[in-house]
Amino acid sequence: MSKNNALNRLNLIQDHISQPTGPIDLANERSNASFNVEHMYWLFCGSKEFAKALSDAYQMIQRDPDLYIPGGHSFDMTQPQQRELVQRQIFRYQKVHKTLKDPLLCKALEFAMCNYSEAYSMRTYVHNTLFRQSIEFFGTKEQQDEWMDEVLNWRIIGCFAMTELGHSSFIRGLETTATYDRVHDEFIINSPTLTATKWWIGMAGQTATHTVAICQTIIDSESYGINWFVVPLRDRKTGHLLPGVTAGDIGAKFGRHGLDSGWIQFSNVRIPRKNMLMKWSKVTEDGKYISPQNPAIAYTTLIGERLTVLTGTQNALGKALTIACRYGCVRRQSVDDGQIMNYQTYYVGLVPCVASIYVINVVDRIIKIQWEELIKQIHTNQAEFLKNVTDIHALSSGLKGTITWWGSEMLESCRRALGGHAYSAYNAIGPAIGDWGVNTTGGGDNFVLLQQTARYLISSYEKMVQGKRLSGSVEYFNNIKQFSKIVKSDLLNEEQLYDMKYNLDMYTWLIGQKLQYLFSILSQSQEDPSVTWNNNQVSLIRLSELYSFRYCLSEYIQALSNYQNSIPEFQNLCPILTKLGQLWSIHLIYESLKEFLEEGYFGKEQANIVKNAYFRMCKELRKEIIPLVDSWGYPDFVLQAPLGKFDGDVYKEYFNTVRAAPGCIGIPSYWEDYIKPLTDP
Ligand SMILES: Cc1cc2nc3c(=O)[nH]c(=O)nc-3n(C[C@H](O)[C@H](O)[C@H](O)COP(=O)(O)OP(=O)(O)OC[C@H]3O[C@@H](n4cnc5c(N)ncnc54)[C@H](O)[C@@H]3O)c2cc1C
Repeated sequence: MSKNNALNRLNLIQDHISQPTGPIDLANERSNASFNVEHMYWLFCGSKEFAKALSDAYQMIQRDPDLYIPGGHSFDMTQPQQRELVQRQIFRYQKVHKTLKDPLLCKALEFAMCNYSEAYSMRTYVHNTLFRQSIEFFGTKEQQDEWMDEVLNWRIIGCFAMTELGHSSFIRGLETTATYDRVHDEFIINSPTLTATKWWIGMAGQTATHTVAICQTIIDSESYGINWFVVPLRDRKTGHLLPGVTAGDIGAKFGRHGLDSGWIQFSNVRIPRKNMLMKWSKVTEDGKYISPQNPAIAYTTLIGERLTVLTGTQNALGKALTIACRYGCVRRQSVDDGQIMNYQTYYVGLVPCVASIYVINVVDRIIKIQWEELIKQIHTNQAEFLKNVTDIHALSSGLKGTITWWGSEMLESCRRALGGHAYSAYNAIGPAIGDWGVNTTGGGDNFVLLQQTARYLISSYEKMVQGKRLSGSVEYFNNIKQFSKIVKSDLLNEEQLYDMKYNLDMYTWLIGQKLQYLFSILSQSQEDPSVTWNNNQVSLIRLSELYSFRYCLSEYIQALSNYQNSIPEFQNLCPILTKLGQLWSIHLIYESLKEFLEEGYFGKEQANIVKNAYFRMCKELRKEIIPLVDSWGYPDFVLQAPLGKFDGDVYKEYFNTVRAAPGCIGIPSYWEDYIKPLTDP
């Protein structure tokens, strides 16, 4: 390069720095929108009214000195500081929400707080979803009357003690005991061994006053299986542990720093018999055990827990993708070069993720309605509830496993998209990864959950083979045999792939093949069934993934047709929603290419058609990537990432954040002792 050229180039760089191109880039990106971003925000929020309430809630948080995080982010705080901050937010929220007259705003504020603060969402999730719902699902009316008001008002702060140091995924193997003492009408809660120590219990470390503990129920030295018991842990005035309870904090973790994950040991703690949650199983005063109609009921509370990850995925990944996509559009490799978002590797890594968030949003809403309808039956029609709960149990396990693994993949795509800047905590992706991983393990490890789903699928298939009619999420198995007659795909051109139903049928075909194969292996095996199961575990888990993804696609197709008959604002969004669904459905086929080829369903030509359609759709939707992420409506203070700033002026904000960080400039405390003796001996 000549000296003049080099100088020109330097001047250009100088101009580039002094006049940031990011705002222009993002403005251009926004001008590409083929749809109304505000209306999409309404749709994403479920309604115009909730969207408005959510915007108001974000504003309330930003203006409230106790809800808002001082300095804009918590990444430089110590663990105790983070915990104090989040508890202060909860304390404040409890005061603020009581003053709100509008229930929608109340709901929106809670939702906005969860979007804003992962630690807030975790603490309230442990108390509201795990603890409170256990009392709701397993408690009798009298028990609910006794505790619910205290729980709702946080006079009792609850945690959920299932996992033990030595056991979790195998719940029946848990060791903590609840032994009935007929003389005193009490249960004695005990941790008989070290491995029985309740472990990883959110809020048990420092905060919870009570727990629901899952224990082996012992009467007259005989075990009657696991049940739930409400056990007080701490004095509500002093915070001191109650006699017989030993509990502490788990200590350093690589994520979820605001949550005081803890351990608990019970040394013959006495609780009244009525503290056993007795809606389904009961122990009478004279020590008679009455079993639940359906043993699976003991896991019911976990269904709600599993379904919450669908909302959690939209939140965590929605924020991470907004940051990554905005960065990809403002980042230029050099002055002459274009936006990094235009590299095929870049947008193919992100665009399908964005499409999937729209799909998950739809599925989340549908399945939550189903679940809410179903739990109403606990009070009105228990027989119907028990009939339907198995299907939604399998579905929730499948969705939880599949979507949270997909979430991990998406976060890794976001991390790669930010290059080295992902390693700055200030850009929020690294902390999000630290917080996220447990979703694939907690609430039931994914490998375990997806096997529960697989068992349901295999047994449903067996029923179908026996001529029984299926309903619920496996209703399509009734017709699955018609797919098995097809040997080869009739795919000839890309156009066919833009029909989501066509792709859904291909996916159904693949599920049919796997079901048929696995069912014949399992039913014809001469070995111990558990050995055959274990030898086919990988395929069984894959079957559950396919079933879960298929469910998402089929619900999305249904939702799209509903939007076509909805309010005009939503009808107008159908073209872009269709494109998103097309991409997602092709993504599913693209990701399964290996299996379609193995089965001989596709030839090389057809695999190429799928690839071309996939890349074409990614490129097409790349044009609207910024309007698509803007529509999720995360304000900058919620994103907490300078590189994801809405206005695109990212470097100044990033640099200012780094400059303001504690210890950014200055002589380190170890200079005198460990550097100076080297440099100035
Ligand atoms: C941050 C955090 C918060 C948590 N909060 C709570 C809480 O509030 N309350 C609570 O009760 N628990 C909580 N947990 C515990 C969580 O629910 C358990 O970690 C989870 O259920 C997995 O159990 P485990 O750790 O015993 O793993 P294990 O069951 O020991 O699993 C270890 C490995 O073995 C594999 N494995 C186990 N069984 C099978 C199988 N049948 N087939 C194939 N592979 C298998 C798993 O896939 C995994 O890879 C929390 C955990 C964390 C990390």
